Amino acid sequence: MELSSALSIALDGTALSVDDALSLQAYSTDELCDAADAVRRRHVGNRIHTCSIVNARSGRCSEDCKWCSQSVKHSTGISEYEYLADQDLQSAYVHSRDNGVQKFSLVTSGRRVPPAHMKSFCRMVRSVSDEGKMQICASMGLLDEEQLRQLKEAGVTRYHCNLETAPSYFPKLCTTHSQADKLATIAAARKVGMELCVGGIIGMGEGMRERLELAQAAREAGADAFPLNLLTPIPGTPLEGVPLLGEDEVARSVALMRFVMPKMTIHFAGGRGRLSRECTLRVLRGGANGVMVGNLLTTAGCDVDKDFELFADAGYSNN
Ligand code: SF4
Repeated sequence: MELSSALSIALDGTALSVDDALSLQAYSTDELCDAADAVRRRHVGNRIHTCSIVNARSGRCSEDCKWCSQSVKHSTGISEYEYLADQDLQSAYVHSRDNGVQKFSLVTSGRRVPPAHMKSFCRMVRSVSDEGKMQICASMGLLDEEQLRQLKEAGVTRYHCNLETAPSYFPKLCTTHSQADKLATIAAARKVGMELCVGGIIGMGEGMRERLELAQAAREAGADAFPLNLLTPIPGTPLEGVPLLGEDEVARSVALMRFVMPKMTIHFAGGRGRLSRECTLRVLRGGANGVMVGNLLTTAGCDVDKDFELFADAGYSNN
């Protein structure tokens, strides 16, 4: 497909098929980024979307996701802890709020949060959501409809559940749960009236086709936002030896994924800290329109002040 045809289709708001997006690979990265940027400006505007997370429970996870430092199946030496107390969650919330971040997400390791802990999360969410300063999100695994309803009623407006990778590739990376399990939680979150944040990780040994299939699957699952993470190969995980994606490959991937998700908020999230400033700017002017700021789950993130300078340099506003 010609890039000019792809651009006019995407500008009209129609998503490209995976095959059509793949056919654009003959174009240079600069050409793809420029076109993806035009699609981004048309459909999602010029306001940067920012979110931050707190790891409310770290490690000790029963699942075997090959990329993850928090699985009990891998020896990674991360700091492990059980559910954080309300006051620690409140401090993380205040820190993000005072830094001008728009969304705050409570994230827990594990297949799902046990019902006994749901009450305290709901209490904490109620206490901060009444303030109305930030949108509150949650990422607590494979919750059922009742648990999701409790979170919604407490003030959680968006649920995060990544598909992680293409449907065809997921079984090679995780055997303890399936994408069907994730899709059931995603559908339940939608049913109780939450927005959906559904993304994944690139650089786990997959190719461009799988990245685009992930984008298509997230769009079809009804995602409002797509967190796009780059694998940080963590020593002790089965993916520790996977080569890092090059900067050009990262930029091309984001640009092509924008054509498959023309109206999506694409958050550039974990793993971006290793990239050059130039590459991050290229991604923000080449398809992405959101960023995860602050620290990540088990790895350090980027400096918040420097991030806000970067958004201004990329031509975004924060309000
Ligand atoms: S990605 Fe989530 S479910 Fe998988 S091992 Fe890590 S914490 Fe557990």
